[in-house]
Amino acid sequence: MKIYAVGIGPGARDLLTPRAEEALRASDIIIGHAPYVEQIADLVNDKEIVSSGMRREVERCKEAILQATAGRIVSVVSSGDAGIYGMGGLLIELIDEVDADIELEIVPGISAANGAASVLGAPLMNDFTVVSLSDLLTPVEVIRKRIAKIAESDLVTVLYNPSSRKRTELIQEVMEIFCDVRGNETLCGVVKHATRENEECWIGSALELPFEMLDMSTVVVIGNSQTVMKGDKMVTLRGYRFK
Ligand code: SAH
Repeated sequence: MKIYAVGIGPGARDLLTPRAEEALRASDIIIGHAPYVEQIADLVNDKEIVSSGMRREVERCKEAILQATAGRIVSVVSSGDAGIYGMGGLLIELIDEVDADIELEIVPGISAANGAASVLGAPLMNDFTVVSLSDLLTPVEVIRKRIAKIAESDLVTVLYNPSSRKRTELIQEVMEIFCDVRGNETLCGVVKHATRENEECWIGSALELPFEMLDMSTVVVIGNSQTVMKGDKMVTLRGYRFK
């Protein structure tokens, strides 16, 4: 009885790892959020597909457990990396709750942060942190507290889930905090659909961040005090040249 939690990367086919491809090919059934299954459709067209809408994560994992218990090899797909806001952790929790002898293999993927950073240049060259602004599972008060501390820490900051149709104000609040603490001129990048055909990219100062560009296919990278432009690339200086 086997379940793979497969990270399929940020979008580009050649950023899906050979190990992920092997897991998908070895599976009888592929379970995932519809757009992610769509992203790998050509690799799995001979498989049974169970795709579902957003926020059906628990349902999807339970279906995977049911199918695996029936003796089928199952892949549960996540975008990016399976263990970064992905399905890996939830599968571990739910398998732990059932009395079934299921082997779970987590197959890592290139996360949105890696994909986006490569589009911008190399902004993650020094210590950095990732925060999701989604308040579906984390209370907004907790997010605010974390952001306040992070802004002061001078860690380069990657924001996942920066803005949704329903949640547009939190990111504005967050950027005000970064502007206050790190300064209006702090260098920031926005990447939408990183590594996909419709990729878009913006680099500029924190004060001018284009909120209208943000949605759930976007990441924001907020630089630290050492993040600068070199030519057309955003880079966080690590200090090599001063050694
Ligand atoms: N497991 C995923 C993250 C899931 S959370 C990973 O490791 O990348 C979903 C968020 O990831 C989105 O709201 C968006 O902020 C970000 N994201 C995923 N793919 C992206 C891409 N190709 N370009 C930009 N952001 C992306």
